[in-house]
Amino acid sequence: MSAVITGCPAYAGHDKIECRDKPGHDGYSNEMMNIAERKQVTAAADAQRWLEDFETVLSAQDASATSELFIADGLWRDVLAFTWNIQTMAGRAAIESKLRETLPHTKPSHFHIPAKRTPPRWVTRAGRENIETLFDFETAFGPANGVLRLVPDAQGRLRAWTLNTNQHELKGHEEEFKRRPEPDSTRDFGAENWSDRLARTRTFADHDPVVLVIGGGQAGLSIAARLQQLGVETLIVDRHKRVGDNWRTRYHSLTLHNEVHVNHLPYLPFPPTFPVYIPKDKLANWFEFYVEALELNYWAATELIKGSYDAKRKEWSVTLRRPDGSERSMRPRHLIFATGVSSIPYTPPDISGLADFSGTRVHSGDFKDAAHWKGRKALVLGSGTSGHDVAQELQAHGADVTMIQRSKTYVVSLKEAQSVYAIYSEGIPFDDCDLLTTSFPYPVLQRSYQISTARGREVDKSLLQGLEKRGFRLHFGEDDTGFQMMYLRRGGGYYFNVGCSDLIISGKVGLIQFANIDRFVANGARMRDGRVVPAELLVLATGYKNQQDTVRLYLGDAIADRIGPVWGFDDGGELRNMWRRTAQPGLWFTAGSLAQCRIFSRYLAIQIKALELGLVS
Ligand SMILES: Cc1cc2nc3c(=O)[nH]c(=O)nc-3n(C[C@H](O)[C@H](O)[C@H](O)COP(=O)(O)OP(=O)(O)OC[C@H]3O[C@@H](n4cnc5c(N)ncnc54)[C@H](O)[C@@H]3O)c2cc1C
Repeated sequence: MSAVITGCPAYAGHDKIECRDKPGHDGYSNEMMNIAERKQVTAAADAQRWLEDFETVLSAQDASATSELFIADGLWRDVLAFTWNIQTMAGRAAIESKLRETLPHTKPSHFHIPAKRTPPRWVTRAGRENIETLFDFETAFGPANGVLRLVPDAQGRLRAWTLNTNQHELKGHEEEFKRRPEPDSTRDFGAENWSDRLARTRTFADHDPVVLVIGGGQAGLSIAARLQQLGVETLIVDRHKRVGDNWRTRYHSLTLHNEVHVNHLPYLPFPPTFPVYIPKDKLANWFEFYVEALELNYWAATELIKGSYDAKRKEWSVTLRRPDGSERSMRPRHLIFATGVSSIPYTPPDISGLADFSGTRVHSGDFKDAAHWKGRKALVLGSGTSGHDVAQELQAHGADVTMIQRSKTYVVSLKEAQSVYAIYSEGIPFDDCDLLTTSFPYPVLQRSYQISTARGREVDKSLLQGLEKRGFRLHFGEDDTGFQMMYLRRGGGYYFNVGCSDLIISGKVGLIQFANIDRFVANGARMRDGRVVPAELLVLATGYKNQQDTVRLYLGDAIADRIGPVWGFDDGGELRNMWRRTAQPGLWFTAGSLAQCRIFSRYLAIQIKALELGLVS
């Protein structure tokens, strides 16, 4: 086995035997080191030893002995490397069984701790101390990587609490920027230049792309950039007139909720001059720049109208509507829906009297002109992010606004909300942060969000008490996991306070409970006590339908029913249908935060490339 400790500065210049046997080798005497220091120094040797043992039993194809290297309830999250799926195996029996099934074709080898990575170290994750190790290895398909977390078992032996394995690249099919051809030293004065070529490529005049991406927000841009780098011809279409309009057309005051250093797109990080919270129009303009800089094929003002799958030819037949109203048929082999978790506005069926309301009624996704409502009365139905932001914007423009709360809501201060991205502030390389983010299996995420939610409740105590005093009903998630799980399970149900909670507490934004409304009437909401809360405007901040409904709209019932719901967790703790094969061949989904789009676009692109190459079937 070729494993060498190259990642731990404390071990520089020492071979592995020295590292393993002499924790005090680097000049400290053992007495001089306190326990914490000694633990850190031995961490690399401990991790190294586990990886060596792991490789030995894997090489022997001994699934049973391999599973014994885990604690009894150990977890293994595999992202393509072994399973060509995104999957978590929980407990030794499941780990053993999956290894038995996958080892023969995976042929894992060359496990090592690379120099460029953060070295093995004791950290606390989800409240548990462990040695966290980032490692590289190889599979039959090419370079892979992963994260190991070791904890002592009952006998004090270090065993894997969590293991994550990811197929990072396909051997011989690395991203194009890594294998740039030698540039020509002569110029053909008669040939088309770069600009001509790009314009021609983008027309798809005489052929269709291999992959058609529906939706050109961050999800569409990320996957197209990745596929292009793998040499898979890809076209993005978006119904908006201009790249970035998915952000531009949102409400006026919007700025991002996550700090800038978490939000980069693949290959092209934001400049260091960008503000911590990027305003929507700035992000929109960056998207436009990104498309040009990466030479992505992007058709704006182009809408998917319908599509069907030809199982015999293994390709789609889709119809697109072009800006001039004409239609273009295409037959791509892969169709990726990047239409957003929030695509089709949802109006709950239980809103009594809604049709009787004679004022202006608008879904929050279409709400724009707050200034128009100055000095007038408005109701905002819904208390998630959109509900709060629209209410705050109306209030700022002089409207008399009242929020109607339907369901209990999680509220957290903006600063405290950043805690779920704490890894990105640990001072380790950005790629290591992304790898660690990929590595957490569901039960570990669940525990860690419970801890951060409990902390947030403490830190935000006075804010939360103020809201409760005003009658705002709070919720911390069905298992106290807070906003991140709400987002992953159902795409909403929470608010990061950027000021609206303070307006509610001070009474500048009114609050009524939906349960106290009898019905909507022509001039507002009639309460159960007979009083009418008057309004000329009603904004429905009531969320969006599942992406399965988007598929139903364009691809029909049979395909929508076949794939089932999109987003939210399956029984194995992975997001349903996201970034992995669906029950419908050739149909894929990507969505989510900028970080999710950046990280998982790599794996989605690799799967499509592997299928195109016939490496997997
Ligand atoms: C206030 C606020 C703050 C946020 N802050 C952050 C943050 O800090 N970090 C973060 O990561 N996320 C943040 N988000 C959330 C999230 O990133 C966005 O909702 C994001 O827009 C999702 O990107 P997407 O590409 O998946 O989908 P979308 O941006 O919704 O893009 C989908 C695209 O699909 C197109 N489309 C749909 N149907 C068709 C069709 N039939 N034909 C052609 N085109 C079609 C649409 O025109 C649209 O452009 C925030 C959201 C809000 C509201």
